[in-house]
Amino acid sequence: MRGFTTSVVHSDRSSPIEHGSLQKPIHATVAYGYDDVQDLADVFQGKSSGYSYGRQVNPTVSALEDKITRMENGVATVCFGTGMGAIGTLLFALLRRGDHFVSSSFLFGNTNSLFQSFAAHGVEVTFVDATQTDAVAEAIRPETKLVFVETIANPVTQVSDLAGIGALCREHALVYVVDNTMTSPYLFQPRTVDASLIVTSLTKYVGGHGNALGGSITETGRFDWSAFDNIYDTYRKGEPAKWGITQIRKKGLRDFGAAIGAEAAHHLGVGAETLALRMERQCASAAALADYLAGHPRVAKVFYPGLPTHPEHDRAKALFRRPGALFSFELADGIEPFPYLNRLKIVVKSSNLGDNRTLAIPVAHTIYHEMGPERRASMGIADSLIRISVGIEETEDLIEDFRRAFEEAET
Ligand SMILES: *Cc1c(COP(=O)(O)O)cnc(C)c1O
Repeated sequence: MRGFTTSVVHSDRSSPIEHGSLQKPIHATVAYGYDDVQDLADVFQGKSSGYSYGRQVNPTVSALEDKITRMENGVATVCFGTGMGAIGTLLFALLRRGDHFVSSSFLFGNTNSLFQSFAAHGVEVTFVDATQTDAVAEAIRPETKLVFVETIANPVTQVSDLAGIGALCREHALVYVVDNTMTSPYLFQPRTVDASLIVTSLTKYVGGHGNALGGSITETGRFDWSAFDNIYDTYRKGEPAKWGITQIRKKGLRDFGAAIGAEAAHHLGVGAETLALRMERQCASAAALADYLAGHPRVAKVFYPGLPTHPEHDRAKALFRRPGALFSFELADGIEPFPYLNRLKIVVKSSNLGDNRTLAIPVAHTIYHEMGPERRASMGIADSLIRISVGIEETEDLIEDFRRAFEEAET
């Protein structure tokens, strides 16, 4: 099998492109015209595989979907306008009122908010400590349909028991959804732990340049949808391993309309070509910075799965190619987070992650502000916690930026 990057950079040309173009062009169109109306009817009836309408299909978007399917070694992918669009459409397409699902409590803040909204619409969720498979097992009820976890949670970097939960889901025939945003398909393929569906915010590492929003759902082919009673009869055709993703595209994307535009898909597809190169550099710098900060007297704690002191260090080592490019730390008493952050010159104070630029954010005052002190405490988020998303700058420049900011605090 070809290597990760070889496969990605030659993905577009695996089917013929106009004029021998090396990249799939941006198809800025909403609809597709047919000379023979029979061809149009065949497309709508699924008898041939042409394009129908831009909310569900676009050639530039299809090229991105193919790339992600290759990167994940899956069977099919559907892209969305944002990562939230992907997660929301997944639940909307697969769950119904009265269903229940189990979720890790260590979650991206907006996913947490989304799950609360679903609860208000009659799809109940139980939040558990997903670093322990037992905690997930105890939350399973007769009406449980699905389990949702992230690979490395942000900001405290807990690593779910991905393999243990995979085995549990298989035993109970539950749909196993893994959010692979923080690891990206370069560091980890959730298919290897029996995930059914993979969701990814392409906005982050896959795109990498912080210039386009996008999300994806990939079907791994590991789940037998014939035993899942929420699949509508119309989609119970062909291989059962693809019924879930078919319902997500045909029903979810059509009804919900969280489609991605061709231009964003182009940006994300170009970004994906360098995912492996960027990740190597970003992870190496993250490890060096985490080490530097862990040994610094003005730092109280560092959360990074690459540190031997991290509770899931061995698990991260066994599962991931590298332990990620994001870490958090708490400053020691007597050094104020805001002035410290303001002394950083290279590191940008910003909320995104996975960007080529290193970004820092005091999480309790910003992205986790709305949830309040109690829920923050339950997630292990201290008021002084600072999250760092490491970019592709030279490692020495980054260490020097942090070092100088400490030095200036002394004077
Ligand atoms: C950012 C993020 C999302 C949501 O993605 P958007 O593209 O911002 O909508 C979902 N999950 C995780 C883990 C994320 O970091």
